[in-house]
Amino acid sequence: MTNKEAFLRRTKIVGTLGPATDDPAVMADMVRAGLDVARINFSHGGKDEQRRRILAIRAAAESVGRPIGILADLSGPKIRIESFEKGRIELAEGQAFALDTALDPTAGNEREVGCAYKDLIKDVKSGDTLLLADGYIVLEVLSVKGTRVECVTRAGGELSNRKGLNKQGGGLSAPALTEKDLEYIQLAAEMGVDFLAVSFARDAADIRRAQSELRKWRGTAHVVAKIERHEAIDNLSDILSVADAVMVARGDLGVEMGYAALTGLQKTIIEQAQAANRIVITATQMMESMIQSPVPTRAEVSDVANAVLDGSDAVMLSAETAAGKYPVKAVQAMSEVIVGAEKYQLGSMRRPRRMDGPFLNTEEAIAKAVMFTAQHMHPRAIVALTESGLTPLWMSRIRTDIPIFAFTRQEVTRSRVTLYRGVYPVLFDVTHSTPSHMYEAIFNQLLTKGLVELGDQIILTKGDLSGVQGGTNSMQILRVSRSA
Ligand code: PGA
Ligand code: MN
Repeated sequence: MTNKEAFLRRTKIVGTLGPATDDPAVMADMVRAGLDVARINFSHGGKDEQRRRILAIRAAAESVGRPIGILADLSGPKIRIESFEKGRIELAEGQAFALDTALDPTAGNEREVGCAYKDLIKDVKSGDTLLLADGYIVLEVLSVKGTRVECVTRAGGELSNRKGLNKQGGGLSAPALTEKDLEYIQLAAEMGVDFLAVSFARDAADIRRAQSELRKWRGTAHVVAKIERHEAIDNLSDILSVADAVMVARGDLGVEMGYAALTGLQKTIIEQAQAANRIVITATQMMESMIQSPVPTRAEVSDVANAVLDGSDAVMLSAETAAGKYPVKAVQAMSEVIVGAEKYQLGSMRRPRRMDGPFLNTEEAIAKAVMFTAQHMHPRAIVALTESGLTPLWMSRIRTDIPIFAFTRQEVTRSRVTLYRGVYPVLFDVTHSTPSHMYEAIFNQLLTKGLVELGDQIILTKGDLSGVQGGTNSMQILRVSRSA
């Protein structure tokens, strides 16, 4: 892929690493195919495995020469049933079945199964609907007696060991961070991951807790709140005020809210995230059939495209890459679909979005002024000299087809902006240049990478003192030349 082609796609791709991607050649091919951020799923595998994957993807990114961000995804309090004597059972509609928090974890059978979540008996009452295995099995609670939740099967089928358990409408009170999560936050901090995803977050307090745990271990990761619980929907604006990013985690969210509500929820979450200047990832089953098949279904193509049109910063692959037969093809297909959707969107892109309302700070004012100017002037590129990535983040909330290059000397910022729609990182240190040399150095970078041509107009933003965080206070319109 040439540089120019790489910058044709604005929406970013998050791909989950797993056994299917462990071959170094596969990892490198995924990076070449356009992977932007690698997700490490802490739900599966031990710490050594996670560490090894993080190092391996960094090596692949280095060898291909494409920066990759790393998102570590905490397991969270996924509530599961325990195991069956025979590994699995068959439940028929109308059959009585009990969940028992005191039952031996391996003693499940046709009548009952264990559950390690002790508070289940406090959180459910007669009349509640429990969903097992992503909603495939439906149980209605008849009564709660001692440690037992007596149910009747409303939708039956095969039920196997350790399947997930959700309550329709939400209300299982488990806190978002488990003991295991606290340990793995330390690992995430030690490994210097760029993003930390909090599974089953309920409210802003869950996110703040993760942030303070991270800080305790000197982690610099930005925190992603996974929106997958009823409570998170109720508390969305509070969560957006503290989290750096959100994920529309459609798997569990669809179970708790009912799948018919998902499309509307996806649009609402994306819109609100954009308005709050937050990054938003759309996730789960986007190309599910590619776990087995080398081509996506037309419905999947449409789903990815619509997530792009909704305004997602990134779309995500889970089992398609982690455990699928075609991890590289899944990234390729996703990339093609995104480019197709963005071409269509071009026509409607020129309309300024979110240009009204007061500006919160200087960075936002400059960023919006740049985007307003860009929409009326169509420069070849926007270049933001940035320490924290804040100015390009504001810029990327406005839809445009003009690439936004984040020139930064900070490696953390370079990895972080991999997730920002339409923003491309360039590692670049301006702190030692005099002003005239600085322009020359910027132009040379752009020219040698083939991103601009002599005579092209670009917009540049910077602060008075490069190397100072939160210092962007000016915008310049420049013409690319050999020496300024
Ligand atoms: P998971 O989260 O894949 O970790 O369950 C995403 C989702 O629930 O959609
Ligand atoms: Mn989930």
